[in-house]
Amino acid sequence: MTAAPAEPVWAEAVAALNAAPDVALACHLGPDGDALGSLLALALGLRSLGKNVVASWGSDPFRVPPQYAFLPGLDLLSPPAEFPAKPDLLVTFDTGSVDRLGSLAGVIDGAGAVIVVDHHPSNTAYGTVNVIDPDAAASVVLVDELLRRLQVPLTADIAACLYTGLTTDTGSFKYQATTPAVHAFAARLIATGIDHAAIAREVWDTNRFAYVKLLGVLLDRATLEAERGLVWSWSTQADFATYGVGMEDIEGAIDMLRTTVEAEVAVILKETPEGTYAVSMRAKGTTDVGAICVALGGGGHRYAAGFTSDADLATTMDRLRAALDAR
Ligand code: AMP
Ligand code: MN
Ligand code: MN
Repeated sequence: MTAAPAEPVWAEAVAALNAAPDVALACHLGPDGDALGSLLALALGLRSLGKNVVASWGSDPFRVPPQYAFLPGLDLLSPPAEFPAKPDLLVTFDTGSVDRLGSLAGVIDGAGAVIVVDHHPSNTAYGTVNVIDPDAAASVVLVDELLRRLQVPLTADIAACLYTGLTTDTGSFKYQATTPAVHAFAARLIATGIDHAAIAREVWDTNRFAYVKLLGVLLDRATLEAERGLVWSWSTQADFATYGVGMEDIEGAIDMLRTTVEAEVAVILKETPEGTYAVSMRAKGTTDVGAICVALGGGGHRYAAGFTSDADLATTMDRLRAALDAR
């Protein structure tokens, strides 16, 4: 576990950003609200300081998940093919390890300096400056502090990005990480005049009918293994094609699965275009799914984590059960 950023770490990050006329920004592939919100908030902030920014992530195809299409600053995004291979300064967000940068992973070696802004306990500290706080509820908490130290005023546009990250990673202010400080931060963001109800509606309460139908398929397939407190389901590339729904659009499906009272752990396996499985795990109670996913080659937090598996569905599930039974 890395300790919260010390004062010299903040100072080094601020100095590097102040000195750089051009800054490249990247978040993890298949971005969620925290990854996108962090990326766009700092991109908007740096633009207001007159910097040239390029912002992206290493997913192919490159598209903004529809639930985040309302975010300000999308005009600052470019596809990964246009990302510089050797930026003087690179900042990564919400990305615990280099492989989570996907097709942009190689930029780490090409970059002059790398500032890592993250809150994953599993972060490998791969930057030249590591702004990492595993106790932060979301990466946007660290971005907010960085913007304050860069003396960037908190505009409503920046606040909308930060609020999106905060509501996403706290599960709409429901998860354990929702401390008094999180509510105080939310209050400060709402005070800028953002339409927080509209953001919540976009992020949590808006789905296409095709998504609702695909959710039905996933729930119909769900299996309860009550003896090990596990509920799980999966989706295939064929499902995504049939329903015209993207892999990253079903981020919320696991939240329905995890309501199962008989299960402490919920799992969804999503087949990727490469034929691997992107595995999402959620826990309530005492199971540390972050530790389990690290053991299985991934990462994440105590209550929400994931890993990628090259094995088939049955083998992946056998490995996962073995890891759970070793608890
Ligand atoms: P997800 O289930 O995709 O929403 O991810 C939950 C948490 O686990 C997030 O904090 C992710 O960053 C992390 N995570 C998901 N997949 C992976 C992976 N393949 N490797 C490392 N961390 C992951
Ligand atoms: Mn994330
Ligand atoms: Mn996060």
